[in-house]
Amino acid sequence: MRILVTGGAGFIGSHLIEKLLSMDNHVICLDNLYTGSKENIKKFNENKNFEFILHDIINSIDLKVDQIYNMACPASPVHYQRDPVQTMKTSVYGILNMVELAVKNKATLLHASTSEVYGDPEIHPQTETYKGSVNPIGPRACYDEGKRAAETICFDYYRQHGLKLKLIRIFNTYGPRMDKNDGRVVSNFIVQALTGSDITIYGDGSQTRSFCYIDDLVNGIISMMNSDDSFSGPVNLGNPGEFTIKELAEKVIKLTNSKSKVIYKNLPADDPVRRRPDINLAQSQLKWRPQVLLNEGLEKTIEYFQGILN
Ligand code: UDP
Repeated sequence: MRILVTGGAGFIGSHLIEKLLSMDNHVICLDNLYTGSKENIKKFNENKNFEFILHDIINSIDLKVDQIYNMACPASPVHYQRDPVQTMKTSVYGILNMVELAVKNKATLLHASTSEVYGDPEIHPQTETYKGSVNPIGPRACYDEGKRAAETICFDYYRQHGLKLKLIRIFNTYGPRMDKNDGRVVSNFIVQALTGSDITIYGDGSQTRSFCYIDDLVNGIISMMNSDDSFSGPVNLGNPGEFTIKELAEKVIKLTNSKSKVIYKNLPADDPVRRRPDINLAQSQLKWRPQVLLNEGLEKTIEYFQGILN
């Protein structure tokens, strides 16, 4: 099968490509390398089934493909807020180009949406039917509203042009190959712990997140792409194990035997108070649930960062 992965040089994209190549597919990776890196895809260059095209999905492209995974977009708050107009364009112009390409090829399009569409949620855990609570003019809006608009475009093409659609909402994911300068909580805490720097908790650390290990997520993504045609989603993909940020800091310090001390900084604007996926839909439709416990996944991620920091 000929498969296009946009954002393939990013953290999630590169893990997805690795798995798709191991399943004997031909994979075309598109990336503008804004947050992705060539380092992430270096090991695929020898593989004759792998192609890399330096391209920004804001611009249209014509390719022959059977499946499209649209993973391209800066996803960490630090990165997506650096150039918010570009983030919005990547979501909106990017998905317009990808739905057009999918319809033209009669290809199935899997679009990576996000738990951020729920904003600072008023219901807990978040089910797919919850419509969200997003500040449309805040600093996170370029990403949250961009992703919400992209979902709208996906479903309009599905209804109006017969797009073969698979929509997933990804919750916090971590693992090897996260960018150490991503600003995300897992990478920040591990790098800080390993380098003996202060561990920076934003706010009082009582806010919660649910962390999914990358291998679990990739299995869920591929199951969704290959699920029954009648199921378009949206479907939550994430690990329902919920932890406070303070608990995460304690775990990282313990697992790394770090002498780092915890310091408290201001909570960023619109930072969601709680987040946890309801994954009943994924369990029933995809027979998928995450297998990797947080401690186990953190150990593997710490090992990765030990390797790149030395
Ligand atoms: N956070 C923190 N210290 C850091 C980075 C993040 O306390 O060094 C907090 C952040 O305020 C948020 C949570 O950890 O409450 C998760 O942040 P992240 O940027 O990883 O992703 P988000 O879920 O907010 O998109």
